[in-house]
Amino acid sequence: MNRHESLKKVKEISQWDIIIIGGGATGLGAAVDAASRGLKTLLLEQYDFAKGTSSKATKLVHGGVRYLAQGNVSLVKHSLRERYIFLKNAPHLSHKQPFILPVYTLFQKVFYGFGLWIYELLAGKYSIGNTKLLSKKKVVELMPTAQQKHLKGGVLYYDGQFDDTRMCVDMALTATKQGAVILNYAQVVSLKTQDGKVHGLTFIDTLNQQTYEVAAQAIVNATGVYAEKIMQMDDDTIKDFIAPAQGIHLVVHRDFFPSDFALIIPKTNDGRVLFAVPWLHYIILGTTDNPVPTIDIEPHAMEKEVQFILDHFNHYTTKVLQRADVNAVFAGLRPLVKLKNAGMKTSALPRDHTIHISNTNFITITGGKWTTYRFMAEQVIDKAIATCKLPDSKCITDNLLIINPADTKEYKDLLQQHPELTERIHPDFHYQLIDVYYAIRYEMAMQVEDILLRRTRMFFLNPRVAFSCAPKIAKIMAQELQKDDQWIQQQCQFIKDLLPIYTLG
Ligand SMILES: Cc1cc2nc3c(=O)[nH]c(=O)nc-3n(C[C@H](O)[C@H](O)[C@H](O)COP(=O)(O)OP(=O)(O)OC[C@H]3O[C@@H](n4cnc5c(N)ncnc54)[C@H](O)[C@@H]3O)c2cc1C
Repeated sequence: MNRHESLKKVKEISQWDIIIIGGGATGLGAAVDAASRGLKTLLLEQYDFAKGTSSKATKLVHGGVRYLAQGNVSLVKHSLRERYIFLKNAPHLSHKQPFILPVYTLFQKVFYGFGLWIYELLAGKYSIGNTKLLSKKKVVELMPTAQQKHLKGGVLYYDGQFDDTRMCVDMALTATKQGAVILNYAQVVSLKTQDGKVHGLTFIDTLNQQTYEVAAQAIVNATGVYAEKIMQMDDDTIKDFIAPAQGIHLVVHRDFFPSDFALIIPKTNDGRVLFAVPWLHYIILGTTDNPVPTIDIEPHAMEKEVQFILDHFNHYTTKVLQRADVNAVFAGLRPLVKLKNAGMKTSALPRDHTIHISNTNFITITGGKWTTYRFMAEQVIDKAIATCKLPDSKCITDNLLIINPADTKEYKDLLQQHPELTERIHPDFHYQLIDVYYAIRYEMAMQVEDILLRRTRMFFLNPRVAFSCAPKIAKIMAQELQKDDQWIQQQCQFIKDLLPIYTLG
């Protein structure tokens, strides 16, 4: 995957089968699907892949215990199948994760035990592990810092866990291998209509302000919380379509929850579930759900959200976590759809995502969740084929492996030529220098933040330590991308400016 090559192809190819706007889970999933069906596919992302919501998830591949509590059985069942396919097709960055739900009354033990037994039952042949009741002694053995006062035992069950932004990058690699052309830092600024149908768009290469015009038979808007803004390029009467809701996470040192088992708190004050999940040698705590009036690509955690998580976590554990103990905080925006825009040809599917097709054949897909990205992609590409008369072919992604960079020839050659690149970037993180070089040469990393936040997860784990690595990474990038000292300084300053957003100060 090489940006220069992608731009060259954009200049050469005048007509695409399909253009996808948005390089998060939804857009990249659609690109993998479309390209693997043999469609001539272009994907445009305004920033970097996964810079939006897709890097800010709880990192669970799950059926949604919460949806079960709401009685949404079909959604859970279908998500459990997708969970199985996800873990099967991306084994290098996802795994089965055991969860324990501690119970403090016998009623809870029966209630949650039965509920999670049903959860496993619904998975049927796609089950990834048996739900079990645990004694108090066993819960304490597996989760030494669980609150023991009134503890009556627990329920063990399984879901999946993954690395969200790495998944996006590896999906971009996979789509490219299937023939798609993928471009980051490519912002769509307008749509073009001919004979009453959307048939092209204009985008700006934001790294050098160059403008491009491209045409396609089908255009898919997969821009998450930005979906409404893009729909307005097609129909300026669209409004009040998306209601963004913010969720935050705290990242803490493993000492605060020394267990390989994730904790699920089944009912918070606002009736949600809260998780403490081991992730990349740290612990993620989250999440919250608060409507927000504006859309920001780097949303800020609210003080009340931070306190909410600290209070709930401390209620269920014995090792008290304080504000000052938090390494990192990150916030993401859920694109919730308000379904009152009935003026359009809308097909609200019986899932948690929505596909809209305007009278001009402009296709928008939004909502859903990471776990079901593959199914969402299958549906939207099916719709695009039917609506825009694209060559028909069947979806093959339920058996398509997502590329593991470490298995590629490029990675192996780089390692063979430079064995010294196995040196760690920083002793606190498992990432190596080869990850930096590979990201620049083959994963379209263009800025230092692409490496610190998304090709590696250093900034999400410990922003202050990650910031100390910025000059080293900027220097390597400057050499590889022919940038000067001023660029290095600007890049480091940009990372410094992110610190107050990702730390509690
Ligand atoms: C707090 C939180 C926790 C979550 N946890 C989980 C979880 O554990 N498991 C799970 O399955 N799901 C989870 N989800 C849901 C999941 O993260 C989202 O469903 C998914 O990431 C949405 O992806 P997307 O591609 O639709 O949106 P995004 O990731 O936001 O991608 C949209 C992209 O479009 C780009 N874009 C916008 N405008 C333009 C333009 N003009 N030109 C080009 N590009 C443009 C944006 O820059 C952005 O990168 C969670 C969500 C939140 C908020």
